[in-house]
Amino acid sequence: MGIKGIAKKVVGVGEMGFNKEGGVINWFPGHMAAATRAIRNRLKLSDLAIEVRDARIPFSSAHQDLQPHLSAKRRIIALNKKDLANSNVLNKWVRYFDSCKQDCLPINAHSRSSVRKLLELVEFKLKEVISREPTLLVMVVGVPNVGKSALINSIHQIASTRFPVQEKMKRATVGPLPGVTQDIAGYKIAHQPSIYVLDTPGVLVPSIPNIETGLKLALAGNSFQLWSLYSP
Ligand code: GDP
Repeated sequence: MGIKGIAKKVVGVGEMGFNKEGGVINWFPGHMAAATRAIRNRLKLSDLAIEVRDARIPFSSAHQDLQPHLSAKRRIIALNKKDLANSNVLNKWVRYFDSCKQDCLPINAHSRSSVRKLLELVEFKLKEVISREPTLLVMVVGVPNVGKSALINSIHQIASTRFPVQEKMKRATVGPLPGVTQDIAGYKIAHQPSIYVLDTPGVLVPSIPNIETGLKLALAGNSFQLWSLYSP
């Protein structure tokens, strides 16, 4: 079995490989397309998206295909793992996002004070525009390994100290039946309006437009990307 066969077996990747020009890495089986669709639907439901990226590679760790959807939304880019990044380079990235009028914040998902600052910004961005909605929803999205679970864990801890009794949230769903509400699992982080962060992140399959991006992602520690680089 070649390395491609092994990769398929180990990580369950359906199709992957470089195109004739040796550029694009293509591994996007049906279930991944379905997952991306599900994320798009949940994005429609959310009032704000926290897009988590790796502070060392803010460009390569972005999901290119979903950028049009994300940039059309109220979004904060959380540049996570700032403790591992070069602070001078990171400052330049922050200035770059500022110049694009895109909210961004370097964070360390393991530090509660850092995550609290992110939540303050979330509240500010939401309360600034929506003060009458009774319930607002925040979704955490990002490619694998950028620290979404670590961030959600910290948010959970902060939420349980702020609101020890966590209520279930009800929201109208995006679906064929208008006005249908359902319980959505999330952590309440603010009151009046109530703000909830969804408890499961949207995991985006990274799109790897070229070898350089793949290498950067692999070096930042993502085994999926590492496998794709072994492809012929
Ligand atoms: P996910 O795949 O996006 O959910 O990523 P995880 O939350 O599982 O994090 C991937 C790895 O990065 C884990 O080993 C985490 O402990 C680590 N990690 C997450 N956030 C940070 C951070 O801010 N700083 C550092 N140094 N490591 C982090």
